[in-house]
Amino acid sequence: MRRDPDCLFCRIVKGEIPSAKVYEDDAVLAFRDINPAAPTHVLVVPKDHVATLAECGDGDRALLADVMLAAGKVAGLEKLDAFRLIVNNGSGAGQTVFHLHAHVLGGKPMGERLL
Ligand code: 5GP
Ligand code: ZN
Repeated sequence: MRRDPDCLFCRIVKGEIPSAKVYEDDAVLAFRDINPAAPTHVLVVPKDHVATLAECGDGDRALLADVMLAAGKVAGLEKLDAFRLIVNNGSGAGQTVFHLHAHVLGGKPMGERLL
């Protein structure tokens, strides 16, 4: 399991920094975003540290599947019939925490679209 002692999400996964946990299994931790952009805004974070989606390689297939599956479970736990999943990759796309994570957003009409 990769860990970066200076990484905010590694520290949350380790329990050094508290979070409002929504779901956890061996591979991921899901917790509420501290600055929610929607009534439900949950971050799904792999316990294994990788900075960005673009840095993922073939060895990260299971990690990526675990994040996607957990996002679906979180939506179910949060009783979302519609939700949006966002991964920001790189600061130019709005990534501020360089530990891969998926945003699960829902609980309001998700009408605005980029495409
Ligand atoms: P990014 O911009 O990298 O895609 O998403 C990072 C997210 O982490 C932001 O939505 C931000 O609000 C959230 N965040 C930053 N620091 C903390 C924290 O200490 N705790 C929690 N729960 N969320 C955080
Ligand atoms: Zn990390």
